[in-house]
Amino acid sequence: MSENCLFCKIAAGAIPAKKLFEDDDFLAFHDINPAAPVHILLIPKKHVQSLQTISPEDSVWLGKMLAMAPALAAQAGCRPGPEGGFRVVLNNGLDGGQEINHLHMHILGGPRPWADRAAVAA
Ligand code: AMP
Ligand code: ZN
Repeated sequence: MSENCLFCKIAAGAIPAKKLFEDDDFLAFHDINPAAPVHILLIPKKHVQSLQTISPEDSVWLGKMLAMAPALAAQAGCRPGPEGGFRVVLNNGLDGGQEINHLHMHILGGPRPWADRAAVAA
């Protein structure tokens, strides 16, 4: 856990969140300011700043995280198949639009139109 990290505090249960899924390694919760009808954040419980700080050994849990997205999207109400679907966004660093420096995957979906900001910077 990193001190003063909002998502570490959410992962530790010190700050409440509307949880969708949790296991030993990951937590999924609803974004507090949704940019689409479905807007989930999926985080590793361990503190990782961004994709800028990962190494090749991290590919296993990162792959797992990516593979969790379809089930979480469906659980949150995204429609299945090509007519439905969802978007995955990972912002990295200031220039990448990252505001919270704990790696997180945005999962956005639901019927359009979405908020304008969902197009580039979830
Ligand atoms: P990013 O710009 O990629 O760092 O995204 C950070 C996201 O965290 C934004 O979409 C915020 O709305 C969301 N967020 C900030 N604080 C909270 C919170 N306490 N609970 C849930 N989501 C949050
Ligand atoms: Zn953290």
